[in-house]
Amino acid sequence: MFTNIPFLDFTIEKERNNFQAALDKLETAINKQTLYACPIISGEEIKTKEIVSRIDPSDSTVTVGKIHYAGLNNVEDAIGSLMQGFPAWRATHYEKRAEIIKNAGALMSEDRYELSALIVREAGKPWKEADADVCEAIDFCNYYAQEMLAIGRPQKLGDRLGELNYYFYQPRGISVVISPWNFPLAIACGMVVAALVTGNATILKPAEQSSLIAHKFAQILLKAGVPRNVFACLPGIGETIGAKLVDDPRVDIICFTGSKSVGLNILKTAAQVKDGQHHIKRVITELGGKNAIIVDEDADLDESIKGVLYSAFGYSGQKCSACSRVIVVGDAYETFLNRLCSAAKDVITGKASDPATLIGPVIDQESRDRILKTIEQASKENSLAFKGSYSESGCYVPATIFKDVKTTSSLWKEEIFGPAVAVAKAENFDQALQMANDSQYALTGAVFSRSPVNIDKAREDFRVGNLYINRGSTGALVYRQPFGGFKLSGIGSKAGGPDYLLQFVEPRVVTENTMRRGFSPDLG
Ligand code: NAD
Repeated sequence: MFTNIPFLDFTIEKERNNFQAALDKLETAINKQTLYACPIISGEEIKTKEIVSRIDPSDSTVTVGKIHYAGLNNVEDAIGSLMQGFPAWRATHYEKRAEIIKNAGALMSEDRYELSALIVREAGKPWKEADADVCEAIDFCNYYAQEMLAIGRPQKLGDRLGELNYYFYQPRGISVVISPWNFPLAIACGMVVAALVTGNATILKPAEQSSLIAHKFAQILLKAGVPRNVFACLPGIGETIGAKLVDDPRVDIICFTGSKSVGLNILKTAAQVKDGQHHIKRVITELGGKNAIIVDEDADLDESIKGVLYSAFGYSGQKCSACSRVIVVGDAYETFLNRLCSAAKDVITGKASDPATLIGPVIDQESRDRILKTIEQASKENSLAFKGSYSESGCYVPATIFKDVKTTSSLWKEEIFGPAVAVAKAENFDQALQMANDSQYALTGAVFSRSPVNIDKAREDFRVGNLYINRGSTGALVYRQPFGGFKLSGIGSKAGGPDYLLQFVEPRVVTENTMRRGFSPDLG
């Protein structure tokens, strides 16, 4: 039976102290400028000449580490190495592959404080969020290893005398994983270990902003026993390295999590079959969301305000599951809005390394500028209900709440990926459902209600991949809440769920006629 790794409990002094000690140790490494990431191919680290600094999102004056970006020659070498490694990995018994992936999870558990500390500094995640990221990564290793044991054994089908039918799965080949920065360890790890455990040789192209964490993860995989020519890590620019990997005819699987525009382009490129290519690429894309929370007229406001605040502003709204639309039913509207705004005043913003912080920075200067511009534009077209304070010393953006937002506005329709939430009123629950569903995306949603009738309606008609009833819309756990959406939120089976691994394999059936005439056991 699978169980999730428990989160750290920061009310326990020892756990707080361990976390702070890991941050202090990392601070020393940052001061000495020893942290780096670089391409890893055939187990070798390659210190390329194109070097980019990763700036701490919490403090623009600090460089966390240096990233040696991969070049196009590294793509060629990585694919060449994996082509060599794939046949032996495919032939490796699935129990052995599962054991190696479980080892990786165990190594991450040993290093959980160090990994979390790096997430705090490189990705700007507050303590609790960074810890959850590491726990999710470990869960992915344990869960997919367990699932591989379940699907690995060939199944005997049918019951016909004189005939044996076996149904089993084979890996697809070379897989490319392109990951986002917002769950810098968990999402990269989940996609990579799913590809590896099912027997595919795998290249990770992490997001530019989270290459240091990806580098640590790559080192852990190799230490856990993943063969050197079965895994490569290529930090680098999406538009060049990522695009080149997607386009390569030797690649069999592309597993992508990120923005809608990049995901749709990947699907288009991957659909083109090149000369000499004998397969159709399998593409898995997990994309964006414009997630709504419905607050019913009879909802418990204490609970719903807590749920909305955390879902909208946790990790500065940079989760694909984050709430960015709130629909309040009937007379609850004014009270809810006033209480939400006064609660938002008390939300602590600051450096991700400060344990009190709920809203840390956004990921980088580019995101900050884009979100500030969006908020400024939205302020001209909509009524501003609340705008928090923010510091100029890092990539900070104010928590922002808009009220009476029109459902035709771009604020209501487009993903912002920052701490900005739009609130609108619905006359009744049916209209609230219709407003919630009226989106190009269908990723997460939540409903706060005390009415069994309305809860049933939501269960049936609030059409999103992950619906939460009387809780916030973020924080899906591996196995308990397999995660993923549909419509323009992506195509693919839910991460952390029972169908996920099946995307990385091809099913085969072998039928043998056992009524053998002229059978010669002496032929060996
Ligand atoms: P992004 O699309 O900008 O980048 C994602 C990855 O794609 C990065 O590694 C990037 O380098 C690479 N990339 C960029 N251009 C590329 C190209 N032309 N070809 C190949 N690769 C390319 O997204 P992001 O900013 O890292 O992440 C934020 C987005 O991810 C949001 O839209 C969010 O909703 C989405 N997201 C979705 C899920 C989910 O499970 N549905 C989870 C997390 C994030």
